[in-house]
Amino acid sequence: MGRYTGPVCRLCRREGIKLYLKGTRCDSPKCAIERRQTVPGMHQTRRGKASEYAKRLREKQKVKRYYGVYERQFRKYYAEANRLPGNTGERLMALLERRLDNVVTRLGFAISRPQARQLISHGHILVNGRKLDIPSYLVRAGESITLKDREHSRRVTSDNLHQENLPAVPDWLERISEDPPEGRVSRLPSAQDISLPVQPQLIVELLSR
Ligand code: SF4
Repeated sequence: MGRYTGPVCRLCRREGIKLYLKGTRCDSPKCAIERRQTVPGMHQTRRGKASEYAKRLREKQKVKRYYGVYERQFRKYYAEANRLPGNTGERLMALLERRLDNVVTRLGFAISRPQARQLISHGHILVNGRKLDIPSYLVRAGESITLKDREHSRRVTSDNLHQENLPAVPDWLERISEDPPEGRVSRLPSAQDISLPVQPQLIVELLSR
């Protein structure tokens, strides 16, 4: 399936939760889901009770849209999570959480995952001092995340780091400094570190058939 280029707020309304795809707007009264709690489309009221399959599908779509991952890539994460020991659903979420674009957002360097992906693919982000332009890169414990020592790179993140209501950094990450921006991966994330309200077990039930 190709890249979705339509209005992203529709995706949040479809899933019934905030997916935080628009940065600061998501925490403002302008957020579409705050104003309209209905699913998009003309026939919202005709929908009956969701089937078990529909519930599982929606959980998968929520996660894919939140992390900005396409179906094929998502299946690869699932295959990897399935291969690893432990609970597959929790492993899947932990893998997605380790994506570099997610880490850059969680550290506050970007206001949304789409913006983080742009920062990374434009070469502004360094991992352990080396440029890394792959948003799907999975960070490891002990790695440092910094910005290129360029005026333009710093300017991009400066506004984000000085915004009001800067989200707290999760326990598994550490924001060492804001100027220059520097963060560190203290440890790998676990199931308790996932803030997205989803039931990963339903995704496993869908994909393991
Ligand atoms: Fe979703 Fe953000 Fe749009 Fe709100 S403003 S509906 S959280 S993308």
